Amino acid sequence: MSSYHAPLSDMRFVLFDVLGAEPLFARLGFADATRDVVDAVLEEGARFTETVLAPLNRIGDEAGCSYDQASGAVATPPGFRQAYAQYVEGGWAGLVSPVEFGGQGLPHAAGVPLKEMIDAANLAWGNFPLLSHGATEALLHHGEPWQQEAFLKPIVEGRWTGTMCLTEPQCGTDLGLLKTRAIPNDGDGSHAITGTKIFITAGEHDFTENIVHLVLARLPDAPAGSKGISLFIVPKMKVGRDGAIGARNAVRCGALEHKMGIHGSATCVMNFDDAQGWLIGEPNKGLMAMFTMMNTARLAVGLQGLGLSDRAYQNALRYARERLQMRSLSGAKFPDKPADPIIVHPDVRRMLLTQKALVEGGRMLGYHAASLVDIIGHGDDPGERSQADALLGFVTPIVKACLTEWGIECTYHALQCFGGHGYIAEHGMEQLARDARITTLYEGTTGIQALDLVGRKVMQLQGAGLRVFLQMIEEFCAANEGNAAVAEFIAPLRAKAVEWQQLTMTIGQRAVANADEVGAAAYDYLFYSGYVALAYWWARSVAAAEASSRPDAFKQAKRETARFYFARLLPRTLAHKAAIESGGAPLLALDADRFDA
Ligand SMILES: Cc1cc2nc3c(=O)[nH]c(=O)nc-3n(C[C@H](O)[C@H](O)[C@H](O)COP(=O)(O)OP(=O)(O)OC[C@H]3O[C@@H](n4cnc5c(N)ncnc54)[C@H](O)[C@@H]3O)c2cc1C
Repeated sequence: MSSYHAPLSDMRFVLFDVLGAEPLFARLGFADATRDVVDAVLEEGARFTETVLAPLNRIGDEAGCSYDQASGAVATPPGFRQAYAQYVEGGWAGLVSPVEFGGQGLPHAAGVPLKEMIDAANLAWGNFPLLSHGATEALLHHGEPWQQEAFLKPIVEGRWTGTMCLTEPQCGTDLGLLKTRAIPNDGDGSHAITGTKIFITAGEHDFTENIVHLVLARLPDAPAGSKGISLFIVPKMKVGRDGAIGARNAVRCGALEHKMGIHGSATCVMNFDDAQGWLIGEPNKGLMAMFTMMNTARLAVGLQGLGLSDRAYQNALRYARERLQMRSLSGAKFPDKPADPIIVHPDVRRMLLTQKALVEGGRMLGYHAASLVDIIGHGDDPGERSQADALLGFVTPIVKACLTEWGIECTYHALQCFGGHGYIAEHGMEQLARDARITTLYEGTTGIQALDLVGRKVMQLQGAGLRVFLQMIEEFCAANEGNAAVAEFIAPLRAKAVEWQQLTMTIGQRAVANADEVGAAAYDYLFYSGYVALAYWWARSVAAAEASSRPDAFKQAKRETARFYFARLLPRTLAHKAAIESGGAPLLALDADRFDA
């Protein structure tokens, strides 16, 4: 079985040394989020995830969830329900939610390490509370006061969970095709919701007395396509305006999906049959309200990729130090042993260092995004808030897509480090690789994140977020001109920033002539951007380590990993740049009916 130890040292480094969380939280008015409080959250979070969730990871994979057709009930794997009760008891559910609705009001950046730990310890379990956070955000931003009163507190306190019901058999990416109907009921302002949703995470389970579904549906007079979609709250148990639980609503789980991974997560077909639902936000503006939820969820799924990568890396590293095979090419490094540990071999080091660089770099990228959420919600300066907003919009698809695609890469490298033993279930590496695979698909596939980045965040919004990022790079480079510790990284970073800007303009110019150029460049542009963003964070990481009171071994590890990153991973941008510059023609030339000619 794979093991997991929360990487508290690096989490603290990112929060306090790289992001300056202590002064940031104080400046944003989070009086309770002192270093001591955040440290206690990290320590307790590590204890909970290592001792309660991690031991259930394999059990969840083997037992999976089970479905009772007669009642439509779903039973979760052994131990999952009890772990959720401990999670609620520990006050984890509302860690970053507002105090007035029963939360603890901590900054998102202080809660993000817990999220990473949960995903690393037990991704399938983590999917049950996952969408409660998105439902909280949607209700906070778009709910009427009575809806907030009735639904928010139980969700924030973890007594109820939330879901996100978008997907239907004929519509996944293209929500304009959805068919679920909402007919106004006479008298009480509610609607009757009818339709079938598929692939609904935590649609049914045995954790809580109620489940709050946020459902996209069409009103009778709605325009066709994505402009005619509204958002509804549809609880499993009806809820009165006073918050009291009533009779069972007409919503039922019709089946569980059988999946490649995350077997412990209930992925449900949900049937709504004239179920009572309440409109949330304005009619036909449901997609906008749902995006509030989806953006939160996209950052959260990015962290899933990060958590799995880290767990896989920890196990691969341990194994590479223990497993003895062959001698180092340059002569025995451990002559007293029958062979050298495989960590001496350059190819194994390539796989380990790739994981280390992507995990620690990805942690900075993901945690920084969470700190932007705090600045947007609590900053005093409107200019700072609007810059943070533009930057968050720009980095969200990068966090979602890169951290999850790197999650697949890292779990595969880790599996490879184990050789044939990685393919055998006993070590738990194949489970991590299977579990990681979903993260690039749900909450918008990688291809859709790429389109969001280029089409919306760069073209439609005229690169506002990119400009903030480029400014951040330039400010860092200017501030560190004379800093010998990072001198070697400044020139390559500046060169990449210039290239990033030029490449963006190239795509923009081509798109004017042919809109397909956007789609043709999108994937490569997203990864190009991800690798340049990580170069910035690695350079900052070296500067932060040097300025800290950390031991020399820590500083050296950061410096050597940054060197590896700049020498071995940043050059991936060259291939992405070449692909972008080749334009759309090589992709678009072959007729659809000639693919099998
Ligand atoms: C385990 C699991 C859990 C899930 N949980 C939920 C949930 O809780 N709630 C929910 O509503 N949904 C959920 N989903 C659904 C998930 O979000 C969708 O599967 C996903 O958005 C993709 O939709 P699709 O499967 O219909 O693929 P399609 O939309 O059919 O896409 C197929 C392929 O075409 C590509 N593609 C489509 N359109 C374009 C385009 N314009 N440009 C470029 N490429 C394009 C896609 O990237 C993809 O590679 C879940 C799915 C799974 C498997």
